[in-house]
Amino acid sequence: MSSNKDGIMLILSSPSGAGKTTLVKLLSKKKNFHISVSHTTRKPRINEVQDQDYHFINNEEFEDLIKKNEFLEYAKVFNHLYGTTKTPVINNLKNGKNVIFDIDWQGTEQIKNKNLQYKLITFFVLPPSKEVLFDRLSNRDMKDKLIVEERMQQFEKDILHWKNYDYVVINDNLQNCFNQICDLIDSATNNSKNQYDKKLILNHVEKLTS
Ligand code: 5GP
Repeated sequence: MSSNKDGIMLILSSPSGAGKTTLVKLLSKKKNFHISVSHTTRKPRINEVQDQDYHFINNEEFEDLIKKNEFLEYAKVFNHLYGTTKTPVINNLKNGKNVIFDIDWQGTEQIKNKNLQYKLITFFVLPPSKEVLFDRLSNRDMKDKLIVEERMQQFEKDILHWKNYDYVVINDNLQNCFNQICDLIDSATNNSKNQYDKKLILNHVEKLTS
């Protein structure tokens, strides 16, 4: 049974480039969420730090963790393996710390299906438009046009999973989006009413997919 002292789990997913990583960092700083650091077989980007942004490991090491049943969830994303190990997450939750996950829809489904005893709130973050997404991805991976194209194509597939999340938010302004997420977390944890506008989201998704 979950107790009031247990931490809660917060998942943020989004198509690549919607600004989710910045939101995760803000939530960690301002709302005291502990960030779950994933393992990945992807190579570090220039500004990424080992064991801070990811635990960067090779395929063999990843397969070994799978064999040892260490993962709470894992998935293949853009041809690389990504996964969340169980032990640090469960230890933090048991010690009353809230944990935030920056994972994709496949990992979210796996965690939902585990029906853990801890409260779980899931968010899907959308970009304001396809043009903004393209600009954000181009600025990040300027050198590699192929990566940008691949991620724009993946966007079309990823966005279809928005329906499986508790809340969908539009990241058109970082501070507004952050405030909205905080309000929704507060109302979800207090079981109080919120201002969530599903119709607005539906219209926005239609615009992004048309
Ligand atoms: P990136 O390579 O841009 O850091 O991440 C690519 C995608 O992998 C993002 O959508 C991110 O949320 C997802 N991701 C990162 N870590 C994990 C993880 O541990 N598990 C799963 N399922 N997805 C992850």
